[in-house]
Amino acid sequence: MAKAVEAKNGSKVEMGEAYYCPECKRTHTKGKIYKDHFKYAQLEETGEEMNEDAYDDETELMEAFNELEEKENILEDEENIDKIEPQIDQGIDNDEEDDEISKNNCVNAVKKLPGVGEATLNKLIKAGFNSLESIAYTPPSIIKEESGLGDKTTEKLIKASMEQLGIGFKSADAIWEHRKNIARVTTGSQELDDVLGGGVETGSVIEFFGEFRTGKTQIMHQLCVNVQLPKEKGGLEARALYIDTEGTFRPERIIQMSEGLDLDYKNVLKNIVFGRAYNSDHQILLIKEATNIIKEKNIKLIVIDSLIGHFRSEYIGRGTLASRQQTINTHLHDLLRLCDIYPDLSVVVTNQVSAKPDVFYGNPLTATGGNIVAHGSTIRVYLRKGKGEQRIAKVVDAPHLPEAEAVFSITENGISD
Ligand code: ADP
Ligand code: MG
Repeated sequence: MAKAVEAKNGSKVEMGEAYYCPECKRTHTKGKIYKDHFKYAQLEETGEEMNEDAYDDETELMEAFNELEEKENILEDEENIDKIEPQIDQGIDNDEEDDEISKNNCVNAVKKLPGVGEATLNKLIKAGFNSLESIAYTPPSIIKEESGLGDKTTEKLIKASMEQLGIGFKSADAIWEHRKNIARVTTGSQELDDVLGGGVETGSVIEFFGEFRTGKTQIMHQLCVNVQLPKEKGGLEARALYIDTEGTFRPERIIQMSEGLDLDYKNVLKNIVFGRAYNSDHQILLIKEATNIIKEKNIKLIVIDSLIGHFRSEYIGRGTLASRQQTINTHLHDLLRLCDIYPDLSVVVTNQVSAKPDVFYGNPLTATGGNIVAHGSTIRVYLRKGKGEQRIAKVVDAPHLPEAEAVFSITENGISD
């Protein structure tokens, strides 16, 4: 048992943090290790079928959350004492009323589609299809499955939504007009921004991949802070959604980074919507749920750190490769669709490089997840270590950017040149 706990990179696992247990081949969350591990170990010994109900996921989840919350509260109390009032107006509209209005506008547009009565509307909204875009860009099979609507209705709704949104052939200059208006979030490093064409762009899925400690998680934290900045400072005056699959989100780092930018860290923390994904199904579900809150909460950045981790630990062995790739593929398309539905949203994901090339894909510098991830994300950035706090980022695969390298550093105040 103790062996299993230490197995993850030989380092200690913190409370609430997830780790992969090679003994029972599951991801555990520290907090209830012994209980759930023994359940699985016992089942394995007696050769009984795995009964998912026996796995007390719910309690474990609650405990981990409570712990995290406690940690955050302690931090806030400690730092609360004589904190100077915010210097910079962050420009984020915290007005709940406005959120409500923009949500209602979307729903009203759906309501006005031909053939949408009260019952259909309810089904659509329940399944998260609360805007014309969400209907127009989702494959009919998914709409049918999730809303329970029939073939004909679904087809009609998609067609009507597409017509209203003017989706069809466009001239390239219309696309150029659109691309000229793409917004970007600064990474904190001028050099890194430059090789990305001015920062992390909206309307795309951007993947940062690299080995352990190359700064993937640090960049994710920094982007969540920077997206909140006023436009002239490289932000989008919007909130971030952080999906943490590895238990490595640290509010402490957000506080340090906020202070580096003279921001009131309490506001910055409030403007990050956080979701801990405990397994791959949960991760997929969180992204589906995100669709409902993006507009309402003015979210313009979604972070998934890391994209493939859970899939890797849950689908073990060559035999599961096909179904794993299938699930990852669907998940990635959910992400790409979010970018279609919300063109001013940027989705940024991290990916590990496989340490055991023989187990996954030939080249040790290939990100895990294989070709599916490579083709699903629009911009890919490979990270590696330089001297000391320096890191090197290389844009390896972008439809419009040259392959170029940037050197940046990770400091106490975050990402910089
Ligand atoms: P990964 O690519 O595995 O996600 P991280 O983003 O967690 O890597 O980067 C870890 C690195 O970030 C550490 O090795 C350290 O160099 C740097 N780092 C983390 N916290 C701080 C800090 N408070 N001050 C300076 N550097 C830090
Ligand atoms: Mg990390």
